[in-house]
Amino acid sequence: SESIIIIGASHAAAQTSVSLRQGGYDGDIMVIGDEAVLPYHRPPLSKDFLSGQKSIDDILIRPAVSYEAARIEMKLGVRVGAINRNDKTVLTDDGETLTYNKLVLTTGARVRRLSVLGEDLDNVFYLRDTQDVLAIKQKAKAATSALIIGGGYIGLETAASLRKQGLAVTVIEAMPRILQRVTAPIMSDFYRRVHSEEGVTIFENVIASEIKVADEGLEVMTSSAQNFKADMVIIGIGVVPNVELAQAAGVKIGNGIEVNEFCQTSDPDIYAAGDVTWHYNPIYQRHVRLESVPNATEQGKVIATHINGAPKPYNSLPWFWSDQFDLKLQIAGLSTGFDDVVIRGDINSGRSFAAYYFKHNQFIAVDAVNAPRDFMFGKMTLTKRLNLDKARISNDAIDLKSCIAD
Ligand code: FAD
Repeated sequence: SESIIIIGASHAAAQTSVSLRQGGYDGDIMVIGDEAVLPYHRPPLSKDFLSGQKSIDDILIRPAVSYEAARIEMKLGVRVGAINRNDKTVLTDDGETLTYNKLVLTTGARVRRLSVLGEDLDNVFYLRDTQDVLAIKQKAKAATSALIIGGGYIGLETAASLRKQGLAVTVIEAMPRILQRVTAPIMSDFYRRVHSEEGVTIFENVIASEIKVADEGLEVMTSSAQNFKADMVIIGIGVVPNVELAQAAGVKIGNGIEVNEFCQTSDPDIYAAGDVTWHYNPIYQRHVRLESVPNATEQGKVIATHINGAPKPYNSLPWFWSDQFDLKLQIAGLSTGFDDVVIRGDINSGRSFAAYYFKHNQFIAVDAVNAPRDFMFGKMTLTKRLNLDKARISNDAIDLKSCIAD
């Protein structure tokens, strides 16, 4: 019979497999993943799961029975080592050769490692999977202080979660400001203020150069005059896409596995979805690689429609979120390349506002903090490819709907 193999038991795999079945696919579906767990939600790893409010069962995308009911075979704790495109097989590390008609790569991304001496010491952690977080939680119970290397979303969420558990938390960021890669300076200022109000200490322009064992804990040596001691160190400096498997098989690679609007790679029988893809976004008219759950699930759906013969091309607005302390940040669109930012609400002393990003007077993205209406409005405006009137949006007294440009 026909068979589809999905590599990586991820967000995208959970969606692709179930959507394939829902869309009428009747052949075999097998998901092969190297983690020993069913696909789970990764975002809580640095949030509710780290701070202890959620267990592994709480974060599973679907329970085991729903895959069984949909006749989706989950082969977990097994790594795929090679793809042979000529005879359409994959080779697993436990020595099996499996045949596919269509192959789906949802291999995601792995953490970027910090290239300094001591990054592999005990009590130095990275954060990508449940195993990482279980180890961090275990250590945090006995620790009184933590140093986070990297002031991006994951570093800052981790800082917030550990701070809530009572640890003394310090964040060091190599760039001149936290969140530099993803937001405007005014947003960095806001997050720096809130972290400081919550008791997290942030140092920017500080580059870690070595991690050493010192006294009972660790010491991080830096480019600045100051070095930092802590019981544990967590490194969050970004991810790299897992393209090697596809690359070795001769599939075309850009800044990720290159896919078309149907998530097909340069081999029409091989698809890819999620963090690993380098794909064209029609709204922004450029290639992007996104690290977000909505993108992984959207692309999973697109693959299923294409294989099931009712193709719907990828046409989604990127969106994200981040939770830190009582701040619920929702982001619609991509702010990269902005030349102006307009604020609605009180960013300077409050904790609820929205930052609207513009490029050449065109609205391109919104960061909404505890402002779900602004997020929904921004998302709708961008999806419909409408523009906003800058002067009106900056005036809180004017109703959002009246801010759409003529
Ligand atoms: P992944 O989740 O990366 O999973 C890929 C899987 O494939 C992994 O299990 C990997 O081990 C496996 N694999 C790789 N190679 C092989 C192989 N050869 N054989 C077998 N298995 C293999 N996104 C948001 O939108 N909002 C958030 O708030 C948010 N917070 C996050 C917080 C943290 C701590 C992290 C780590 C991520 C967060 N993200 C968030 C990003 C989000 O989790 C990712 O975008 C999402 O997980 C991408 O899913 P994916 O399907 O691409 O694959």
